[in-house]
Amino acid sequence: MIHTLFILHWEGNMIMNGTIISIGLESSADKCGVGIITSEGEILANERSTYKPPIGEGVIPRDAAEHHGDQFPKLIAKALQKAKLEPSEIDLVSFTQGSGMGPCLRMDAIAARTLSVILDKPIVGVNHQVAHVEIGRLLGEMDDPVVLYVSGGNSQVIALSENRYRVFGETLDIPLGNCLDVFGREMMLDASKAPMGKVVEDYARLSDEYVELPYVVKGMDLSFSGLLTATTRTAKSGKYSIETMCNSLQETAFAMVTEVAERALAHLGKDEVLVTGGVAANSRLKEMLNDMASEHSSRFFGLPAPTAIDNGVMIAWTGILMHQNGYRQRIEDTAVRQQFRPEEVELIWR
Ligand code: AMP
Ligand code: MG
Repeated sequence: MIHTLFILHWEGNMIMNGTIISIGLESSADKCGVGIITSEGEILANERSTYKPPIGEGVIPRDAAEHHGDQFPKLIAKALQKAKLEPSEIDLVSFTQGSGMGPCLRMDAIAARTLSVILDKPIVGVNHQVAHVEIGRLLGEMDDPVVLYVSGGNSQVIALSENRYRVFGETLDIPLGNCLDVFGREMMLDASKAPMGKVVEDYARLSDEYVELPYVVKGMDLSFSGLLTATTRTAKSGKYSIETMCNSLQETAFAMVTEVAERALAHLGKDEVLVTGGVAANSRLKEMLNDMASEHSSRFFGLPAPTAIDNGVMIAWTGILMHQNGYRQRIEDTAVRQQFRPEEVELIWR
């Protein structure tokens, strides 16, 4: 037995020679995620649990944080089991330092500090948006993409400029995913079995009819709240089918984000387009972005849902990039930052 254990351990070290393993904790909003990845970019585990508020209600940060506090120990154990790792084999603890909802971020930081102290391993606080970009670059095999990040909490066009990930355009009010979610909720669509965005997508697929709705692009920025109000009002008038309203909402909102991404692509002279965030699961959005990228002789990549939706893997991976390039953090400096812009991060690994 002792002999077998010794061999296993020895083989493990042989395989992992020079490689480091990072665990990433992400709970900046309604999702709680734990991911494990190696410095070679091999994903060993990607566990997640989503806080579901009572039907018809939005996410209250305090309640979501309570869910995350309950879930972290379970997800960490599950991730280690999936990765076939002992806790001591983790080399680095990465967590989302911001941006996000205060109580949710604090739960994330507490879990990460605890792990770091128990395992006696370094801790790295990661910027959430930077992590979305980096996991996209890794898995999409992209070097320098224009990134459209569209989720329940964010709608931004991000790209590298002067060694920072800068936000070139963003929503001035509600995020795109939220617009789809609230419209669906107002129309009492059933999102108990799939995300509301997917429910809207399924209805939209059943109609080719298009009703004109407010298309609001201001310079490089976007606004969805007027679109949401108008779509809801028109839908409630009963003049058009729900299929037509979902189709019209999608066509309008997706054309808006595609226009801003296209402008960034042309202006910055880049040739890669990446879409991430929960809304990246939408086939129609990916089709529009793909067409736009083709017109600019650019490559398009849409991240698959497990790594597009908030996840621990993207945090674990970005932690490795930071740590391997010399970034060190003291535990005293791990206070969370609800407002944490990607351009504040010096990209020492690029
Ligand atoms: P995230 O905030 O990244 O976790 O993503 C959640 C958001 O993605 C929610 O607003 C969902 O409604 C939206 N979403 C999920 N699947 C789809 C889909 N197929 N089409 C559009 N939006 C979606
Ligand atoms: Mg996110």
